[in-house]
Amino acid sequence: MADDEIARTGGDTIFGKIIRKEIPAKLVYEDDKCIAFPDISPQAPTHILVVPKKPIVQLSKAEEGDAALLGHLMMVAKKCAEQAGLSEGYRIVINDGADGGQTVFHLHVHVLGGRQLGWPPG
Ligand code: 5GP
Repeated sequence: MADDEIARTGGDTIFGKIIRKEIPAKLVYEDDKCIAFPDISPQAPTHILVVPKKPIVQLSKAEEGDAALLGHLMMVAKKCAEQAGLSEGYRIVINDGADGGQTVFHLHVHVLGGRQLGWPPG
């Protein structure tokens, strides 16, 4: 992916700026396809966001060609959970659109853990 295509296409977001290192975040993981960093407003003792460098707006806008990238995000989420010591379990969340509670329109995977999580979500 060319540098100027990394998380800039379409509506840029705060995550695009973090990916391009224009604003700081404490990265816990980075490779050529994604980054991971702690959520600024954690909802659990561990709350990490895994964000693809490709600026997919939301899961419902992903295409067949994104399947491998989406699988990669899951594996990175798993690695982040292991790295954070979440041996008792954790939750993976992708909020989609207004009803899903999405607030940043750049696809991201939440990794939440470190306490007993409730179900169903609100
Ligand atoms: P969503 O509601 O879209 O599923 O999740 C967006 C998440 O991004 C929220 O949990 C919010 O706290 C987090 N967030 C928003 N702005 C920033 C930021 O500038 N830095 C970090 N680290 N997290 C952010």
